Amino acid sequence: MSCYSYICFLRGKSTASSASNDDYLCAIKKITRDKEAEAVILHYICSHFMKTIQDIFSLLPNKRKVVITTHQKPDPDAMGSSLGLYHFLKQFGHDVQVISPTNWAAFLNWMPGCELVLDFEKENEKALQFIAAADWIFCLDFNTLSRTKKMMPALDETSADKILIDHHREPQTEKFVWGISDTGKSSTSEMIYDFICNSGYADKVNMEIMQCLYAGIIGDTGSFRFASASATVHEMIADFKRKGLQHTVIHEHVYDNFLENRFRFIGHVLLNRMEIDYQLNTALIWITKQDLLRYEIKTGDTEGLVNYPLGIQGIRLAALVIDRDEKRKWSFRSKGSFDCNTFARTHFNGGGHYNAAGGERDESLEDNVQRFKDVIKNYQTQLQSH
Ligand code: 5GP
Ligand code: MN
Repeated sequence: MSCYSYICFLRGKSTASSASNDDYLCAIKKITRDKEAEAVILHYICSHFMKTIQDIFSLLPNKRKVVITTHQKPDPDAMGSSLGLYHFLKQFGHDVQVISPTNWAAFLNWMPGCELVLDFEKENEKALQFIAAADWIFCLDFNTLSRTKKMMPALDETSADKILIDHHREPQTEKFVWGISDTGKSSTSEMIYDFICNSGYADKVNMEIMQCLYAGIIGDTGSFRFASASATVHEMIADFKRKGLQHTVIHEHVYDNFLENRFRFIGHVLLNRMEIDYQLNTALIWITKQDLLRYEIKTGDTEGLVNYPLGIQGIRLAALVIDRDEKRKWSFRSKGSFDCNTFARTHFNGGGHYNAAGGERDESLEDNVQRFKDVIKNYQTQLQSH
């Protein structure tokens, strides 16, 4: 095979996520044909990029100490993918511990295994011991270690092998030994299903795994309404249904499990804290510390709030800023061709996906709101195009 046709072959394979490390090594050998250049390129690649996730499959049956972690304030996909993987790995007899960098919303507590998850901030000593003893640390649903907040130094310094499974843009691949990053995937929960099936252990998909992964998928696809709800997502759900998953109870656990105060709060926010700019097809919601106190708002109560203004005719971008304890936390959601990831990265120290991203800044709530109003004017063309 010529060098050119080999690369075509490899690209064809890698889009199906099935190229192995050996395939890549062969490609490099063909391209360089020079021993010294090959060694330099290989060294560079090995120190900057992770090995493909397929390379871990043969190692799965050997018992290990495993930690699974995810991003701070885990959402249904973060917690669902972590616990889905937990219930898979437990079946090999591994010692597995899920650690969340922070607390999480009460509407996730029904997930099987959630009661065993450690909160890094609350049970710091214990969590650090698990990290220190781990052979493997799976990092799910985040692209940069900074998304784990106070856990970041422990993850950066650990001698354990880190494994990434994630669907966010621009991952820090140099931090991981093995991994897969696929922005085309609806959710990390879908990627855990692929991981299980591709590893040759599809027979280990049990009820606990299905319940956790289903919650993650409805979370990240807006219950199958976003473009990311692909045919493969629906095929996976069909598989779950054939295996006996009762899906309506999961929707009830996630969406029908709030206290009255949350709905009074949403009423207040939509009435008094939402500004619409029809010139820019943009909505902005800001929430003060007093709002959070007055309505006794807890972690998870603001989940989904940013989506409300997208239901207004013509609105292309919805932004939400909340005056949290240390930082002002932003969420951005768009319809169509407004790139939230780049916007959040450029102006609000954040990132995420094309149509959903977040960020944070230190300045006051008022300064943050002003900053948004100033920078958004530069996006008039994108926001007005259809
Ligand atoms: P949410 O608005 O629900 O908090 O987050 C939307 C998306 O953006 C999620 O995929 C989340 O992981 C990502 N995201 C949220 N906040 C941040 C942030 O501060 N930094 C980065 N890099 N991504 C974020
Ligand atoms: Mn996700």
